[in-house]
Amino acid sequence: MAHAPAKTPHSAAQPPAGSACRCAECLAPLTGAQRGQLFCSPAHRTAFQQRLRIRGRQLLPYAMADRMTRSGTAGDDAARETGKSSRAVSQRLIAKWAAEDKAAGRMPMVDYVTRYAKHFDLPL
Ligand SMILES: [Zn+2]
Repeated sequence: MAHAPAKTPHSAAQPPAGSACRCAECLAPLTGAQRGQLFCSPAHRTAFQQRLRIRGRQLLPYAMADRMTRSGTAGDDAARETGKSSRAVSQRLIAKWAAEDKAAGRMPMVDYVTRYAKHFDLPL
């Protein structure tokens, strides 16, 4: 098998420097952080991942219906309507969660994925 498991840290990656080296859940500086560390504590890792799990369950059906109907431009009339509604739901959920994260002082998801991708393979 040529591919490493998705969670294998990249051996050549360097730890994030400066303000990038913060907990994704509370933005506290990660002192003495190991390469690929994203959280200040197991509790914050659990909180972050549990929230993503719940959000994923809510978003996935709508994101897939959106994509599979090309945002409501493919399929029969019913599929197009479902696709349009699904796109609207996806966008509302994402906007709501981005605002919640900002208000709660969490790392923006773009920053989280950028940091995550420096140390772990993205699932493709
Ligand atoms: Zn934290």
